[in-house]
Amino acid sequence: MSRTDGSQGNAPEAPRDAGGVSRRSLAAQALGRVDPITKGVVPPLHVATTFIRDPDNAYSSGFVYARPDNATVREAEAVLAMLEEAAGALLFGSGMAAATALFGALEPGDHVVAPNVMYWALKRWLREEGPRRGLSADFVDADRPEALRGAVRPGRTKLVWIETPGNPLWTVTDIAAAAEIAHAAGARLAVDSTAASPVHTRPLALGADLVMHSGTKILNGHSDVVAGVLATRKADAFWARIGALRASGGAILGPFEAYLLTRSLRTLHLRATAQAAAALDLARRLTAHPNVARVLYPGLPDDPGHAVAARQMEGGFGYMLSIRVAGGEAAAIATAARVRLWKRATSLGGVESLIEHRASVEGPGTPCPADLLRLSTGIEDPADLYADLDAALTSAHG
Ligand SMILES: *Cc1c(COP(=O)(O)O)cnc(C)c1O
Repeated sequence: MSRTDGSQGNAPEAPRDAGGVSRRSLAAQALGRVDPITKGVVPPLHVATTFIRDPDNAYSSGFVYARPDNATVREAEAVLAMLEEAAGALLFGSGMAAATALFGALEPGDHVVAPNVMYWALKRWLREEGPRRGLSADFVDADRPEALRGAVRPGRTKLVWIETPGNPLWTVTDIAAAAEIAHAAGARLAVDSTAASPVHTRPLALGADLVMHSGTKILNGHSDVVAGVLATRKADAFWARIGALRASGGAILGPFEAYLLTRSLRTLHLRATAQAAAALDLARRLTAHPNVARVLYPGLPDDPGHAVAARQMEGGFGYMLSIRVAGGEAAAIATAARVRLWKRATSLGGVESLIEHRASVEGPGTPCPADLLRLSTGIEDPADLYADLDAALTSAHG
């Protein structure tokens, strides 16, 4: 088993469809759908908001109105459900809309366990908006299964939420262990898999009930669409309630964004694999840099999350890493100020590499150290990416 390139792990065997075709091939062809009228290899973009009713008052096309449902959105959802090996997928107007729809499907009085290290805006939502909706949440170090086990309250905890690797420290949570703990307490397990992508982790195959992605990140990958995804292992009553909330609340993704997302999913495997390889290359080189105190990346053999990551991730360890800059906050901000090729911006997963002083964004109460720079690795030449960081780190200390 190769531990540093992630080419092998104990993750369940990657499935193929009935014809023996891999997820990669199915995604490259967006499931092989064609335009039934022209036979075009790209299905048309469906923009209609309303549909003709039959003379007998039926809707034989199955489409009535575009707030609950749209054919172009359905196409993207079908590709995403295939990638996640899910019974269904739903697209939302943002990752936050997807996540809050899931929390919105819980009942007042329900208890939630969530990680200390997770997407900052969602943690704030759980803290500030959750209680107003009758939800209570406990935040624990989810990378320690004992902490999860100690936090679940059998019968009261209805959802265990994890994020792996967890933004912005890239802590790794054992999905199979978390699923066992959640299920023993009578709760569902949901995984924010944004930093892993379906290429590197298949949470449902590891026992999770639901998967969430910010489609804004590597799924779309070109920094030009805001989108969110939920996918489910079972099309059960909870899933139906999430769908009903999306339909009534109007949180569906727009058709043009869904069209762009499907286009991006055709190249997801190539992008994710290249971006993860570049992230590993950078992580290794930065470890040896005199002005870097620490590199946080689960692909490094001495990373605390490496053993679990090597087991549950496949084909790489993802496109995100962080560095802690020797010299502290001022040196970190000075380094970010000096890069030329890296783009100084928030967000992640695009083909262009981004650098961010994350503590400035998250503010007081963040677990993010002040000396940390978050790096989202794109598809540029890794040698150029390293040279630019090296020059910035060196001159910031000069
Ligand atoms: C960006 C992000 C979100 C939120 O997604 P939006 O599309 O910005 O609403 C949630 N989780 C993670 C890990 C993210 O990076």
